[in-house]
Amino acid sequence: MTMLAPKHWQFPPGRLEEGFEDKKPLYDEAEAMAEATRCLYCSDAPCIQACPTTIDIPTFIRKIGTGNLKGAARTILSANLLGQSCGQVCPVEVLCAGACVYKAWGREPIAIGRLQRYAVETTLAQGPTLFQARSSTGKRVALVGSGPASITAAGLLALEGHTCTLFERQALPGGLDSLGIAPYKLKGPEALRELEWVLSLGRIELRTGVEVVERASGPGQVTAAELLESHDAVFLGLGLGVDSHLGIPGEAGEGVHGALHLIERIKAEPGLRLEGVRRAAVVGGGNTALDMAHELALLGVKVTLVYRRSEEEMSGYAHELAGARLDGVRLLENRQPLEVLRQEGKVVAVRLLATNRDGKPLPDTEELLTDLVAVAIGQERAPRVSLAFPGVELDAQGRVKVEPLTHRTGNPKVWSGGDCVNGGKEVVNAVAEARLAVQSMHRYLMGE
Ligand SMILES: Cc1cc2nc3c(=O)[nH]c(=O)nc-3n(C[C@H](O)[C@H](O)[C@H](O)COP(=O)(O)OP(=O)(O)OC[C@H]3O[C@@H](n4cnc5c(N)ncnc54)[C@H](O)[C@@H]3O)c2cc1C
Ligand code: SF4
Repeated sequence: MTMLAPKHWQFPPGRLEEGFEDKKPLYDEAEAMAEATRCLYCSDAPCIQACPTTIDIPTFIRKIGTGNLKGAARTILSANLLGQSCGQVCPVEVLCAGACVYKAWGREPIAIGRLQRYAVETTLAQGPTLFQARSSTGKRVALVGSGPASITAAGLLALEGHTCTLFERQALPGGLDSLGIAPYKLKGPEALRELEWVLSLGRIELRTGVEVVERASGPGQVTAAELLESHDAVFLGLGLGVDSHLGIPGEAGEGVHGALHLIERIKAEPGLRLEGVRRAAVVGGGNTALDMAHELALLGVKVTLVYRRSEEEMSGYAHELAGARLDGVRLLENRQPLEVLRQEGKVVAVRLLATNRDGKPLPDTEELLTDLVAVAIGQERAPRVSLAFPGVELDAQGRVKVEPLTHRTGNPKVWSGGDCVNGGKEVVNAVAEARLAVQSMHRYLMGE
């Protein structure tokens, strides 16, 4: 991708992520034209209904087909500011392309994600002005986090003329878009370039290395009370917490990793090498487990995915499992880790307990030889800092409670969206929720 070069944030060179090939590379013009002309431009297009941001898919595809790339990009980005990364990372197989009429006829659906990427990436590389921010309203909004939810909210608020400040505790911004997505879909620097483009839309400041806390105890922290006092409104795009643990003997120590943490290191840590790791056991059955397993397999590791129930019950997408299998991942169903076995501190195996179809333990155990264990059994729920905003509440699952149509929390100055509200979905859901929140925030800020 050759959009605006990142001005302030850089992924260091020498990262494992750099060696991954793009599974769905950018189309060239001839490929895009050929694919665009297959589209039937359906009225009542089912692909639009299946997109959480309701992008007018037939219209943007028609524009590609007539050579109006800028118009295509504008159609996409006016519905979804992160149309670039969504084109690369959306699970189109279960969203727009999954609903395409071609699929119902047993034929290859239109490659909507790839066409979307082509239109946005090619257009933004030329640096045109696609949107003009309104003149300043004088209103100030604080956004906590800089993942897809907060970035989208900031971009849309800035276009309405509001002044936005994003507070991000990490040194690198972008949330999971830059630090979590599998590198064969989207690499960190690509996510940062998209973020830079959103920042260029209006009056947006991004402060990294600043954590929003309940009570400040050192530098690099700002309190919820300070944000509420110095801003007209606040948006919480906090994402989820850190990796959950198995809580089994042998888990603590070298060689056992939280999957999210290891994925982040593969994407961002210069010099990380998996020397001496020939075999890996990845524990879990969701999309993070599948990504972790697939990434390790592509790095040349022999990977076994250990899941406590059967394949049909996995929450990870079937197309992601199929892709991981093609690259050598083996699935071991109905097994649950009992203990990580070590010799002189080094991981050598995991003892597994057999389980029945419902995940209930059976008496049989076995040892799976491995050099590394990656635990992908979920993330802790929304960071509790949300409770430092008076009136904001969490539901029984630990998600930030919002009014569904406006995404306003129990505090009339605070809105929220993305993973911390929906419990962990996709980038496109974070974008859609941020858009709903901004519509309501804007009405409030304008005194309507
Ligand atoms: C491994 C993995 C792979 C994924 N792959 C895909 C994929 O292929 N396609 C897809 O569509 N979706 C994917 N997702 C899901 C997608 O990344 C998330 O749905 C999306 O990033 C949610 O955006 P968000 O803004 O709500 O949260 P996040 O992206 O998590 O961003 C939240 C940000 O808030 C910051 N923050 C939190 N608390 C504070 C605080 N107190 N002060 C300051 N900053 C704070 C965090 O540091 C973080 O940067 C994946 C998720 C994971 C875990
Ligand atoms: S359903 Fe398929 S063929 Fe119809 S408009 Fe959408 S992408 Fe084109």
